[in-house]
Amino acid sequence: MVDFMEYASSGSIEVIVGPMYAGKSEELIRRITRAQIAGLRVIALKPKLDDRYSINHIISHNGKQKDCVVVSSVAEIEALIATEDFDVLAIDEVQFLEEDVISVCQRVADMGKRVICSGLDMDFRAEPFANVAHLVAIAESVTKLTAICMTCKKPATRTQRLVNGEPAKYTDPIILVGAKESYEARCRSCHKVKR
Ligand code: ADP
Ligand code: ZN
Repeated sequence: MVDFMEYASSGSIEVIVGPMYAGKSEELIRRITRAQIAGLRVIALKPKLDDRYSINHIISHNGKQKDCVVVSSVAEIEALIATEDFDVLAIDEVQFLEEDVISVCQRVADMGKRVICSGLDMDFRAEPFANVAHLVAIAESVTKLTAICMTCKKPATRTQRLVNGEPAKYTDPIILVGAKESYEARCRSCHKVKR
């Protein structure tokens, strides 16, 4: 798809965005695998999302996996890139990292290396994740993937949050104690946010 980036001799930032289920992790895994086949040294990582367990794999919704390092902060990424020899830095779920991730990506690309970031471009309210929006602006390559809308089966660009089966409210907190929560891909017209 954007495999021409594999020919880039100077550094670059590639960003893979879209809603949940769009195939972002799958595409990231594909690019990591190709880099490894080409003999490149890849640092693959993802942020730690909760304290109960941390699985050291990038996992796609269709079961593909790739070993990765789980980091709790951008400072840990800085430590990794300072101590390891690598050619490619790959980050999944980049929307959950602090703002400093942007300058780290810039610096690694300026060193002549390849950076590949994958993440959600919008939250459940269809508002941009600021870090991801910034990365999209400074990237050499942007791949915006769509999922399939679970309501009308057309291409989906957004992530619908459901609380007890109903569209979440704009003001609903990120953690809702005791509620049954789920997420699904939806298109612009089927996506709902209760005001
Ligand atoms: P993302 O990282 O964008 O959340 P993944 O790479 O984890 O996506 O998963 C993509 C896979 O999810 C698809 O290849 C498909 O098998 C599966 N899938 C499940 N629901 C959907 C959907 N609504 N639209 C597209 N793919 C879906
Ligand atoms: Zn739809």
